Amino acid sequence: MARPARARINLAAFRHNLQLAIKWAGNAQVAAVIKADGYGHGIVAVARAAEQDGCMLAVASIEEAARVRAAGIVAPILLLEGFFHASEPDESGFDGLQWVIHSEHQLAALEERDSGLDVVRPLSVWLKFNTGMNRLGLPVLQAESFVSRVCRLASVRLEGVMTHFACADEPENDFSGLQMARFDSVLSTLDQVALPQGLKRSLCNSAGLQQMPAARGDLVRPGIMLYGASPFFARTAVQQGLHAVMSLESELIAVNELAEADCVGYGLTWCASRVSRIGVVAMGYADGYPRHAPSGTPVWVSGKRVPLVGRVSMDMLTVDLTDHEVASVGDHVELWGANVSVDEVARSAGTIGYELLTGVSARVPRVY
Ligand SMILES: *Cc1c(COP(=O)(O)O)cnc(C)c1O
Repeated sequence: MARPARARINLAAFRHNLQLAIKWAGNAQVAAVIKADGYGHGIVAVARAAEQDGCMLAVASIEEAARVRAAGIVAPILLLEGFFHASEPDESGFDGLQWVIHSEHQLAALEERDSGLDVVRPLSVWLKFNTGMNRLGLPVLQAESFVSRVCRLASVRLEGVMTHFACADEPENDFSGLQMARFDSVLSTLDQVALPQGLKRSLCNSAGLQQMPAARGDLVRPGIMLYGASPFFARTAVQQGLHAVMSLESELIAVNELAEADCVGYGLTWCASRVSRIGVVAMGYADGYPRHAPSGTPVWVSGKRVPLVGRVSMDMLTVDLTDHEVASVGDHVELWGANVSVDEVARSAGTIGYELLTGVSARVPRVY
């Protein structure tokens, strides 16, 4: 490996975080959310680790499920948005898939499939209800009708009902309570219809899992916490006992002396107020480091925090080494990881850890 930019993935840290999720889940099953290439960590590696710990997996598309199955991983997979085209369930041919049905058009497609098939391969489905996020989900008030329609289909097995919180990451926000009450109303409606035996409930992402013990239900869906980043603005991952899984690393490839009032980088946006030593790091926005990270964003250079200075360019960024006398070419740099959290960089750049982790580009090798 010539260019030193890489994402080191610590699977022991992933499994530590997963064990925490399993502990918090209590009696509920854990579906490890590994969509978006395992939040940028490599979907196969994290799927394998989660499978070893007895978890289900959750993805956003059949393409992602296919990558998992191609690696020989047999754990059940929840497709969080179900199918985009009605042909997917039968064309894919994989075992152990569970499809989220969130819209009338998907249910209509299942009904059509049911009437048209000779040999019926039963599909496992979850019905997702909209309890207030207003993104995906069936209307709560028609829960009874949707459940009855599904239960009439010989080719479908109803696994459970689910919903998704809009504000679980805001501990002070009461909206989650309202969503839970609406979800409970779905469950009590179903109690009055002959409720299919063993129907499961699923509500929680990472934030809900930590924040709302009463909402754990039968299946929880943690994502971000497994990667050691915080779902909360006001609580760090370390405070939650989480370990960073990805370390985005590189090296100093040049160190330059600047005179007072010399400036650095495109647009010359940062100027030296004293004689300065500027380090150049082989990491840029084409690697997924945020171009919006302003001067002052912390970077870990050979054991010490130093500030990013000037604009991030495509393949490089610059740091102020003036107060780090020993730093020199070839030194190790961590852009985020155990020493500078991805959440801290994200906050500095006006975004969230999720976006930075999933944005690490394909040209950065993942090293396990
Ligand atoms: C992505 C996703 C999750 C995981 O959310 P985190 O905040 O990463 O824990 C859970 N449920 C659904 C439906 C999702 O789309």
